[in-house]
Amino acid sequence: MTPSLPRFWADGQAGRRARLLVVDDQVINIRVLYEIFSEDADVFMATDGAMALDQCKHIAPDLIILDMIMPGMDGRDVCRVLKSDPQTRDIPIIFITAQSGEEEEVAALELGAVDFIHKPINPVITRARVRTHLELKRQSDLLRGFASIDGLTGVANRRRFDEELQACWLQCTRDLQPLSVLMIDVDHFKKYNDLYGHLEGDSCLQRVAAEIRRNFNRPRDLVARYGGEEFACILPQTGIEGTSHLAEALVAGVRRLALPHDGSESASVVTVSVGGATAYPIPGTSSQHLLEHADARLYEAKAAGRSTFRASELPLGSEL
Ligand code: GH3
Ligand code: MG
Ligand code: MG
Repeated sequence: MTPSLPRFWADGQAGRRARLLVVDDQVINIRVLYEIFSEDADVFMATDGAMALDQCKHIAPDLIILDMIMPGMDGRDVCRVLKSDPQTRDIPIIFITAQSGEEEEVAALELGAVDFIHKPINPVITRARVRTHLELKRQSDLLRGFASIDGLTGVANRRRFDEELQACWLQCTRDLQPLSVLMIDVDHFKKYNDLYGHLEGDSCLQRVAAEIRRNFNRPRDLVARYGGEEFACILPQTGIEGTSHLAEALVAGVRRLALPHDGSESASVVTVSVGGATAYPIPGTSSQHLLEHADARLYEAKAAGRSTFRASELPLGSEL
């Protein structure tokens, strides 16, 4: 019996089936590969290069089996495009071709493909290679995951936040959509540590992080630990109204945790202050001012007595 394909982690679940994208202009070849893999993977298909690129955006495959020679945009062009896009460059690509020759193989590997399979397709060889590369992909996904998570609270870390903010900025620029960020800071947290000890402080940060996370449901929203007792959230396609609403809900939610804080000058429980900012990004601008703007609002919320929020929209065309 051939060993089954690895399953991939999905938040808190036992694991999902691998997603394979098969790209070939000949439907018969797609059918052969479908027969080999459909039992323990989700197999998606595309019959030309443009369709393949489109599928990649929508299904985020774990591996692509890509016909090298196709009319119009061929496999090599598809590979080049995928490797130049940060969103798709980590998807392993196995080229498949009827041609046999070292030159072809070298060219494919130089483009960033991980492997090469010849037609006619040998099911045993193909399955073994796909399995190996899926396993490697699974492991590198896991490592990437660890490298982007904050160890104490389990939310994204600062590095991941910076990457995601940049990606969202570009995406919202393209889609003519607003982008918002929230900066959240625990009030009088130094006194909390002084009074209850550092370990209690850590556990308080975990509770606050979980509460922040609970308030975000959209898949593209990101909650991160920005540093120390500060958290930050990215809200793509969210305008100032939604942002203010969330900020208000966060302030109320953390208060409702009712974690005693006898050293706080603002309340008898742990509270947070929140600063929000919304921008309509335009090409050639950076996300830095959005963060500075949110930080200025956070400062205002602190000055207004803490356990509250301030949020505002950057004027259109202002020096972003
Ligand atoms: P403010 O209301 O103005 O925000 O006052 P604050 O005391 O919260 O602000 P300040 O920046 O003076 O102090 C932040 C404190 O957060 C200091 C530091 O000891 C604590 N802190 C930062 N990271 C951690 C952590 O990982 N664990 C614990 N327990 N404490 C942390
Ligand atoms: Mg702080
Ligand atoms: Mg603080």
